[in-house]
Amino acid sequence: MRLRDLPSVDELARQIDDPLAVEAARKVVARAREQIQQGDDPGDLAAHLQDELRAARTPHLRRVINATGVIVHTNLGRAPIAEAAIDRVREIARGYSNLEYNAATGERGSRQDHVAGSLRRLTGAEAALVVNNNAAAVLLALAALAEGREVLVSRGELIEIGDGFRIPDVLERSGARLREVGTTNRTRASDYETAVGPETAMLLRVHQSNFRVVGFTEQPSLRELADVARRHNLPLVDDLGSGALVDIGDEPTARASLAAGADLVCFSGDKLLGGPQAGIVVGRAELIEKLRRHPLQRALRADKLTLAALGGTLALAVDAPDEIPVLRMLREPAEAVSARAARLAKLVGGEVEETVARAGGGSLPLTELPSFACAVEEELAMKLRTGDPPVIAVVRDGRTLLDCRTLTDLEADEVAVAVGAARK
Ligand SMILES: *Cc1c(COP(=O)(O)O)cnc(C)c1O
Repeated sequence: MRLRDLPSVDELARQIDDPLAVEAARKVVARAREQIQQGDDPGDLAAHLQDELRAARTPHLRRVINATGVIVHTNLGRAPIAEAAIDRVREIARGYSNLEYNAATGERGSRQDHVAGSLRRLTGAEAALVVNNNAAAVLLALAALAEGREVLVSRGELIEIGDGFRIPDVLERSGARLREVGTTNRTRASDYETAVGPETAMLLRVHQSNFRVVGFTEQPSLRELADVARRHNLPLVDDLGSGALVDIGDEPTARASLAAGADLVCFSGDKLLGGPQAGIVVGRAELIEKLRRHPLQRALRADKLTLAALGGTLALAVDAPDEIPVLRMLREPAEAVSARAARLAKLVGGEVEETVARAGGGSLPLTELPSFACAVEEELAMKLRTGDPPVIAVVRDGRTLLDCRTLTDLEADEVAVAVGAARK
């Protein structure tokens, strides 16, 4: 085909009755022009047009299968949500709800009431508030309690969580001023004590979620910090990050933080809690009320689908924690993972390999969960990634490892089919 034989965009688009035809035809003609200029044959333009239209209608955000062994995988959507929580979302999404309506009185209600009771029961807090994510929770707490004043933070806790999210930047954006205390490796309660002045508005502790400092180190206990805060009548805010509600490894729970004297505790909904993306603040009622009344709260509040999914997840946290996928994957005995890997290996003719899975999401950075993978040929990794559904695996030592700790039994079957397709 020569350039002058190329149809115009309109000519090509007219062949088909489709509202997306013109945009698709533009892409097809542009690509064909390049190919002709490079001396290549552009092929069947009508067929390319059909492919473009199909691609345009394929959802961009799609399900993938996580065979990486990283449970709370930030790039893969963090926590999968429990079936019962999804049922709650479906019910609330498809119709109207009492989101901000008190049916008993016929008056306006608060969207925060729907999960506050569960959060109070699970953490022992007086009150709770839910916003979009934990970054928003920390921002709101700083803005509402410390705007224009000083916040004391240990140098060892001025951390970056991921993708450039840095505590000092959030602090600055909140309108509060950072006052660093202690050193990178050693901070004592007395460092906070000497730094307290007339401008001090709050003490902030940030959990070192995604790293650990070892060797010549010292950090005050939360209780010691609470004593300093109490003496100066200042609030102590604890950013837990992962926010375990039940005991998982050495992750601090929100309940333990409050019991040790934190006035407010902030944590994520979709890390170790295993629910939807959300930021949860629990603690003293009078402080929660200040956050609720702050103008930023309106911009940061959680939507009804998040609240429905969170409500469903919290109900399981009380009665059936193993139905929360993140908790199930974290606690599954190694033998069960090994059996799944053996079954997958048999289905695809691979080999079982011992591996180490991770909690991920900046939680439990040193915890190595014993795990088992099915090892297949290295060159399958790319084809698995671009398959339908995409299977994301890890390439190590010349092989593709399909870690079975982050697969359900059903997903292992899907992976077997995907491996078969990738080998064709
Ligand atoms: C993950 C994390 C955050 C941010 O939480 P998001 O829910 O991702 O917004 C804040 N602080 C700490 C300590 C964290 O680990």
